[in-house]
Amino acid sequence: MTGKVLSVASECLGLIKTGGLADVVAALPAALAGQGWAMRVMLPAYPGLAARLDPAQEVWAADDLFGGPGRVVAGRAAGLDLLLLEAPHLYDRPGGPYTGPAGDHADNAERFAALSWAAAALARDGTTEGWRPDVLHAHDWQAGLAPAYLRYGPETAVKSLVTIHNIAFQGLAPATKMAALRLPAEAFHPDGLEYWGQLSALKAGLVTADAISTVSPTYADELMRPEFGMGLEGVIARRADAVHGILNGVDTTLWNPETDPDVHPYTARKRQGKARNRLALIEEFGLDEVPGPLAILVSRLTWQKGIDLIPAALGPFVEAGGGLAVLGSGDRDLETALQEAAARNPGRVSVRIGYDEALSHRMFAGGDAVLVPSRFEPCGLTQMYGLRYGAVPVVAGTGGLADTVIDASPAALVAGAATGIVFRPVDALGLDQALRRLVRLHADRRQWAAVRARGMKADFGWDRPAAAYAALYAQLSS
Ligand code: ADP
Repeated sequence: MTGKVLSVASECLGLIKTGGLADVVAALPAALAGQGWAMRVMLPAYPGLAARLDPAQEVWAADDLFGGPGRVVAGRAAGLDLLLLEAPHLYDRPGGPYTGPAGDHADNAERFAALSWAAAALARDGTTEGWRPDVLHAHDWQAGLAPAYLRYGPETAVKSLVTIHNIAFQGLAPATKMAALRLPAEAFHPDGLEYWGQLSALKAGLVTADAISTVSPTYADELMRPEFGMGLEGVIARRADAVHGILNGVDTTLWNPETDPDVHPYTARKRQGKARNRLALIEEFGLDEVPGPLAILVSRLTWQKGIDLIPAALGPFVEAGGGLAVLGSGDRDLETALQEAAARNPGRVSVRIGYDEALSHRMFAGGDAVLVPSRFEPCGLTQMYGLRYGAVPVVAGTGGLADTVIDASPAALVAGAATGIVFRPVDALGLDQALRRLVRLHADRRQWAAVRARGMKADFGWDRPAAAYAALYAQLSS
């Protein structure tokens, strides 16, 4: 083994999930093992989690962890090597990881400061079994204080990396909590932990970690601009030399059209299955025949995802022969706008409000194209599913979308490199023009087949990202 990493997060697929962060945290250990890095994942012991550990062994304890005793229990669950922080006064309560029946937990600052404190202490001192990481990898604001505790505590050789999965959540707390959160008063200034008069856990990580990463190279650059940095652009820009963009991978076992149990199987070469999936999708959504490209949309329905741009662009698209099947849920006004667009275009546009994993697989398998018109997108997964399933992505040229799809420009077509359609600026006209290009590309059978086949062969597994993280850990700990 090359080294050891403690990955600290608030979510992990198979145990507790509210978003894409959980997928990444769960995928990294196996991917990193292939690179010679042993990773343990540390999470709060939310209700029921500790009981799943097998075997379970206490490896760290503290009498007073922000208002009560805490201990870390090590064991295996969900195929992972886990360290669960038990602190009943902080985590043993109903609700999700961040919210209870009455909204956000009032002590979220303490809850995740405790996670960060315990992670830093365990990393610095080692566990009772003698395990000590070379690198502490902190994910998002919930672990953002861990690098700060390493920095402000006793000297240590442990290096730290903080990864931004979503800059929109910054873990703000009143300045009066500095002492209670065991942070030195002198760290509260604009070049330190202060964010406009408040304490920011994410900013703490950004200013104290040895390195910063985010989930795509383009997003790493975008974060240094006010349009994307959500107030932290200056902090990130000042640390540009320490900032790394590493694309997320996708689970290529779960997302494989050849073995997917939810679809008629097919490959880039044997595409009969794809045609059957298209017919099934048309039937399932109650569409008529769609002579042009059948697009799909599988998304949270929010402003970030550019959903409000879609209804206006649909008229010309449908007139040109296109169709659209939507699966998503989110803001009520966006749900309504899509349903009204479906009512205006019967037989061509159909909308399902809800969350349905199996249906999403059938949609990628049956669709000719997948729409991802996001205003910002740190990495994005659905464009990669689209590529693997031969649903040609039509994406906004931002963040991870720009890093994973090669636009079918004349030059890229001649060079045999194009895998989809990338448009910007991200506005109604941009989407309208992109859909017109989609119709033209789809009508050019030879080019269409080439673009689709190329996307299906592209590699978006975890090997490449894992190698990039491994190189970064090696650089940090050398
Ligand atoms: P974000 O994390 O911002 O929502 P991503 O593209 O990174 O965007 O990940 C979204 C994930 O959630 C993808 O796996 C996508 O397929 C899935 N998803 C989103 N909405 C739905 C839905 N309504 N039904 C099924 N899966 C969905």
